[in-house]
Amino acid sequence: MIVQLEQHITDEQLTSLRNKLTELGLKITEVKTQKARYFVALGRQEFDIRLVGKQPGVRDVHRVTDAYKLVSRKWKVHPTVIDLGDDVRVEEGGCALMLGPCSLENEVQVRHTAEFLASKGVKIMRGGAFKPRSSPYSFRGLGIEGLKMFSSVVRPLGIKVISEVLEISQIREMYDYVDIYQVGTRNTQNFNLLHELGRVDKPVLIKRGMSGTLEELLQSAEYVFANGNEKIILCERGIRTYEKAYRNTLDLNAVPVLKEKSHLPVVVDPSHGIGIRRHVTPLALAAVMAGADGILAEIHEAPECALSDADQTLNFDEATSLIEGCVRTLQLRQELL
Ligand code: PEP
Ligand code: MN
Repeated sequence: MIVQLEQHITDEQLTSLRNKLTELGLKITEVKTQKARYFVALGRQEFDIRLVGKQPGVRDVHRVTDAYKLVSRKWKVHPTVIDLGDDVRVEEGGCALMLGPCSLENEVQVRHTAEFLASKGVKIMRGGAFKPRSSPYSFRGLGIEGLKMFSSVVRPLGIKVISEVLEISQIREMYDYVDIYQVGTRNTQNFNLLHELGRVDKPVLIKRGMSGTLEELLQSAEYVFANGNEKIILCERGIRTYEKAYRNTLDLNAVPVLKEKSHLPVVVDPSHGIGIRRHVTPLALAAVMAGADGILAEIHEAPECALSDADQTLNFDEATSLIEGCVRTLQLRQELL
C-alpha cells in the first residue's frame, strides 16, 4: 500500500499515522522525494483502506499488489515527465533522442558530434567517460577530465549530457557535468549504487540487466525512488538469449509492457540491442512504433575508428536517417495507434 502524505503533515500526525499502520500489522518505510512524501506499507492482513485514508495528514491511499510499489502505474496513472530544463523533456508521447559516441575520445570528436546533433535539433548527447569493458586491456574511458570537457563543449550548444556512472564515488564527482546519470546493464542490480542515486536530484536512466526480467528492472528503479529520487527513465537494451547471430536480443515486448506496468518513461537502445550497425535504425523505428518515449543510440563521425562498440555505431548520414525516421514514425504512430 502507498500512503501519500500531505506535504505539511505535522510530526504528531506522522506519529499517530505510523502507530495506526503498525497496529494494522503493516511494516512501514517512509519515503521523501523531491516531489512528495509517502509511506510504503507492507503487510498481508486485510483491512478497509478507508481507515487509513481518513487519518489526518493523509492525501491519498492506494493498494498496490506489485512487488515494486512507487514505480507502479497502479497508484500513479499519469506518466512521469522528466524535465531537463530549457524545454527538453523525456515524456510519453514524445521521442527523446539521446545520441553520441559509446566512449568520449577527444575534444574534436565531441565537438563535431555535438555540432552535428545541434544542426539536427537533437537535445541530448550520450558519451561514456567511465567505461565498463569486458577486457581490462580495452579502452576504459577518459575519466572525469573527459566528462568535464564533454559538458563544457556541448552545454553551450544547448545540449544536455547523459553519461554512465559506475560507482558510488563517481556520483558526486560527475554531478556538475551531467544532466542524466546512466546506470549500465552491468550495474542494474548494484543496489548500493542505485540507493545512492536516490539521494541526487538529477534523472537516472537505468538499463535493463542483460539477464534481467522486467520485474527486476522495476525493482531496481524502486531502489532509486524509495531513497528519494522520482526522476527515473527505464531503458531496454537487449537481453542475452541462446541466439548468437547478434550481440543481444532486443526485447521490444518490454516497451508496451513496461509502460503498462509503470508510470516511468521507457527508452530503447537499439545499438547494444542488436550490435549490428545496419540494423540499428530499423530497430529504432520499430521501438518508436512499439511506444518508446526515446531512443539512446551510438553515433560517431568515423565509426570504423571508434575506440569502443565500432560495429554498432552509426555514421552521421546513418544518424540523420535515424533522426528523421524517428520523427516520422512518431507521427505515424500517433495516426495509427
Ligand atoms: C553503453 O551505453 O555504452 C553501455 C556500456 O551500455 P550497456 O550498459 O547497455 O552495455
Ligand atoms: Mn557502447
